[in-house]
Amino acid sequence: MPPSLLYLSNFEPARCSRRYNLELKCAGRNHSPQTCRKKVEMIIRKKVTILGSGSAGLTAAIYAARADLEPLVIQGLQAGGQLTITTDVENFPGFPNGIQGPELMEEMHKQAERFGTQFIYDNAESVDLSRRPFVVKTSSDEVHTDTLLICTGASAKLLGLEAENKLMGHGVSACATCDGFFFKDKTVFVVGGGDTAMEEAMFLTRFATSVTLIHRRDQFRASKIMVDRARDNAKIQWLLNCVIDEINDVEKGYVTGIKVRNIKTGEVKEMPADGVFIAIGHQPNTDLFKGQLDMDENDYLVTDGVKTKIEGVFAAGDVMDPHYRQAVTAAGAGCKAALEAQWFLEQQEAAEKKTAQAGTAAGATKE
Ligand SMILES: Cc1cc2nc3c(=O)[nH]c(=O)nc-3n(C[C@H](O)[C@H](O)[C@H](O)COP(=O)(O)OP(=O)(O)OC[C@H]3O[C@@H](n4cnc5c(N)ncnc54)[C@H](O)[C@@H]3O)c2cc1C
Repeated sequence: MPPSLLYLSNFEPARCSRRYNLELKCAGRNHSPQTCRKKVEMIIRKKVTILGSGSAGLTAAIYAARADLEPLVIQGLQAGGQLTITTDVENFPGFPNGIQGPELMEEMHKQAERFGTQFIYDNAESVDLSRRPFVVKTSSDEVHTDTLLICTGASAKLLGLEAENKLMGHGVSACATCDGFFFKDKTVFVVGGGDTAMEEAMFLTRFATSVTLIHRRDQFRASKIMVDRARDNAKIQWLLNCVIDEINDVEKGYVTGIKVRNIKTGEVKEMPADGVFIAIGHQPNTDLFKGQLDMDENDYLVTDGVKTKIEGVFAAGDVMDPHYRQAVTAAGAGCKAALEAQWFLEQQEAAEKKTAQAGTAAGATKE
């Protein structure tokens, strides 16, 4: 049973502290830790704690668990990460016939669990990286950990239309590299005015018969070279000063068309569509680390490989990778982060042993 569930059920503090490596402290006045059931606050002591349960976090967990480090994964509220909101995944190695995103993540979860990973289904609400062990707090648990692996991902920014979430993976997408292949000979729209939107539109012309780029202004944030390249591509049409007001058809369960409004003229038109790619950027989930770790101008964590500037704190996956943003690259980085954490712990243990031996030798010389 994961520790967070233990907190809710009628557990025995002494037994649980042995089994799950918990320190227990009483949170209420006049409560004895041994008798108090409700007001006991748990401190979970861990060598490796992983924030996030997407491809990066679960791969890190598999490696750390197989190194006998009994990692704890704080899954976050989107257990399984971004792949749980898509359907077919055809580019993750090992699945020649493709696999559904949620199924892939469930398999990764099971694989991590099989080797002894513990899971908490909650968000980390605060982290203190100022000293080791690092302290992570969720709504009900406090975790003290020697190493922290940050795999909190980056969420695709969406337009805020109700249909977007409902049709995500059913014609709506936030990733042309991932889903472009499914739109062979189809009509697609790309929303955005940055480099990513230009790149996605050009990539989609390999498959779709018609690609229309929709942008709310007639100026672009994208670099001139990218705009010029897209302009030179005869397969791309442009709808400028326009926004999408509606994506149809939620009832049918797939994309059939869009309602577009010109914000200068007010003209509204309905257009048939098979796919809508939202390319207006990503927001890395890094609020927790502001002021503690280095970030770039878009709030991605800045790392050297998977190492952050704080020893023992590593980052992997979309949270530190604005460039590739793929499940397999996130998994690769998760593997690296777990190995780095393992080597870091081994070095720490060796150094502690050496200090202890030196202390014993000094004591013996005195005698
Ligand atoms: C619609 C869609 C389709 C895609 N299709 C493909 C595809 O076909 N192939 C492919 O390779 N890639 C695809 N991708 C991209 C792929 O999903 C990502 O690159 C990959 O999921 C990144 O993994 P990650 O582990 O870095 O982050 P994520 O998968 O984003 O996972 C982040 C995790 O962090 C957790 N978290 C966030 N904040 C906190 C917090 N405060 N405390 C604890 N946990 C937290 C979340 O709950 C989540 O579990 C797709 C993406 C989208 C959106």
